[in-house]
Order: sequence, then C-alpha cells, then structure tokens
Amino acid sequence: MSENSAKSIRNGVIATVIGGVILMLIPSVRGYVSSFFSWLWSGITSLWSALWVEHLVFGWIIVLITVMALIGLVTVVLFLREILGKKDFHSYTEDVIHGAVWRWRWTSNNISGLWCFCPRCEATLVYDDSTCRNYLANTSRTDFICENCNNSVIASINGGNKSYALGAIEREIDRKVRTKEFEKH
Ligand SMILES: [Zn+2]
Repeated sequence: MSENSAKSIRNGVIATVIGGVILMLIPSVRGYVSSFFSWLWSGITSLWSALWVEHLVFGWIIVLITVMALIGLVTVVLFLREILGKKDFHSYTEDVIHGAVWRWRWTSNNISGLWCFCPRCEATLVYDDSTCRNYLANTSRTDFICENCNNSVIASINGGNKSYALGAIEREIDRKVRTKEFEKH
C-alpha cells in the first residue's frame, strides 16, 4: 500500500468519526439554538413594551441625552466626511514643476519612472548636465530640453547633474504629498 492511499484512508476515517460526533450532537445543538432564539425574542418583545410605558424622567436627562446624541451624530458625520473626502496620493502621478510636466508611478509608497515632458508639445525631454563636468562653469545645473520646440530649454534645475535634478523633483513631490498640496490637483 502506497503512502498516499494510506493517508487518504486515514483522512476518511477521521472525517467519518467527526461527522458521526456532529450527527450525535445535532439534537442537543438544535435545542440550544431554539432556546437562544426564544430568549432573544422575549428580550425584544419586553424591550418593545417597555418603550411604550410612561416613565418618570427628569427633563434635564432628556436634554442631556439629546445633546449627547447630537454630538455623537455630528462626530460620525465629520469622521465619514474626512474619510470619504481624503484623496489618496497614489492618484497623484503628474505635476508641472519648474516649467516641465513631470510624470511618475507609485511603487507602493515610492516614486518610480519619474521623467519630464514638454508642456507645449508633449515631447519627451532630453537632459543636458554638461555644466557639471565643466570645471570652468560657475554653476552646475541640469537643463531639460525639448528637441521638438527648437531645442528650447523647458526646465533648468540648479545644483547638480541629472540624478540630483531627479532627486530634487522627487523631494518636491514628497513635500506636496506631506503638505497635502497635491489635493488641489
Ligand atoms: Zn515641445
């Protein structure tokens, strides 16, 4: 006898035993369920009749309960409005920063595939950070150029090479997410 068939026989025996036990218990389970429902029903009917009996309650208790109920209602409404009105930053995947259109994806909470496009013709921009390798240049910067618009410089980011510029844009996106400025988009 192979190991697999031994296992299936063992499982069959266990299932039969458990099924038998459940079947034995069913009458008593049925009894418990029906007594639970009759108890529940008597609770509901007694609560219902109690609601229609006149009670002596001080006016201030009624006022207090009304005020507390109103406060609770307002809190729930405000809470729901905040949750439903909150814009998820994962839908924020485009913005105009330093004159260029930047687009990216969110990989969980990280920006990926960040690049820029021409706001006039939608062309993909090319970069030029040659000033960072030129020791005679006073400032190091990265220009983003549209070849489709007479090689005009669309965006220019001072301070470093291409990876510095992309880092600067990422930091700006992160800032807008933190300050919730992105929600205006
Ligand atoms: Zn262009």
